[in-house]
Amino acid sequence: MSDKPSSLPIDETGKLCSKPVAGGRLSCEEGELLLRAGDIHELGRAAHKLRLKRVEPRVVTYVVDRNINYTNVCISRCRFCAFSRDIGDEDAYVNQYEPVIRAKITEAVELGAKQILMQGGHHPSLPFEWYLDLLRCIKRDFPKTTLHSFSPPEVVHFSRLFGMPVREVLSRLREAGLDSLPGGGAEILSDRVRSEVSPHKCTADEWIGVMREAHGLRMRTTATMMFGHVETLAERIEHLERIRALQDETGGFTAFICWTYQPENTALGGTAVGGLDYLRTLAVARLYLSNFENLQASWVTMGPKVGQLALMFGANDMGGTMLEENVVAAAGTSYAMTEAELRRLISKAGFTPQRRTTQYELLE
Ligand code: SF4
Repeated sequence: MSDKPSSLPIDETGKLCSKPVAGGRLSCEEGELLLRAGDIHELGRAAHKLRLKRVEPRVVTYVVDRNINYTNVCISRCRFCAFSRDIGDEDAYVNQYEPVIRAKITEAVELGAKQILMQGGHHPSLPFEWYLDLLRCIKRDFPKTTLHSFSPPEVVHFSRLFGMPVREVLSRLREAGLDSLPGGGAEILSDRVRSEVSPHKCTADEWIGVMREAHGLRMRTTATMMFGHVETLAERIEHLERIRALQDETGGFTAFICWTYQPENTALGGTAVGGLDYLRTLAVARLYLSNFENLQASWVTMGPKVGQLALMFGANDMGGTMLEENVVAAAGTSYAMTEAELRRLISKAGFTPQRRTTQYELLE
């Protein structure tokens, strides 16, 4: 579990925080110091100030979307995951396009969804054509929907299973209709952490490598971080440093999203970190990731109230309306909201709610 924050005098925190607000960059050591000991009020103030400078100050964006998990069969069996199943388990499933996935997308599109986020377990025997057909069918029937699907661990799984370089996997998925990649499966980009919590999943270098290739193919992606399990504070900063460096190189990330580990029903167990650790980490992420425009508030794991507070700690986006969420729900904590509730939450926090596309273009 992560080290407990102590306290840095307010003026010391203020000095460190003002560096990114004035256009400078935090070093790894400074980032770790703020994470460990920064004054929470100063962190929030500085992160909010920087957010107001970086993106439209009055607006908080969100996307109407649906999250579809096409299979829960997975050979990786990460220790923090309560969602995956083995082939033959009673509740193992693979959703085919007809009738299940098509019906889910139809329902989402009728509610105004512009984005479909598909992710699944690492299935050992579905052929590559199955994924390509799925993308083609969706694009044929829903040509205006953005397919934001397959996180880097899935791409690496395809590459290993089908003996194909990552670039070829991505090119063929793109030809079949894939528009962009979600940044899932990053957890903490440190191989020490990954070997403890997800030893069979892609390495930190492989995750970064998939994103580099995707950006090279002009596919925009998001970056994520799941924290509050076995990582140290230095490893959280190592994670931020890796994505900041790739953003310098490619500029291909549209947004950063962090959320906390949910321990229920997992092999790893333990306890979830609280709202304050979440807000502190989010604020430090805003200050550290000086080359990112958009940071999402994670109301799905933290709840609507902390989600609202996140808008004062560096977040400028509420993510998706999440018509469906299975992965976090399997680990015991998942909140759901209608679009109207999400808009009300944003308005009550003093901002104008605005629908956006996957690429953060405003829709209204
Ligand atoms: S987190 Fe993803 S890769 Fe890991 S076991 Fe769960 S479904 Fe599989």
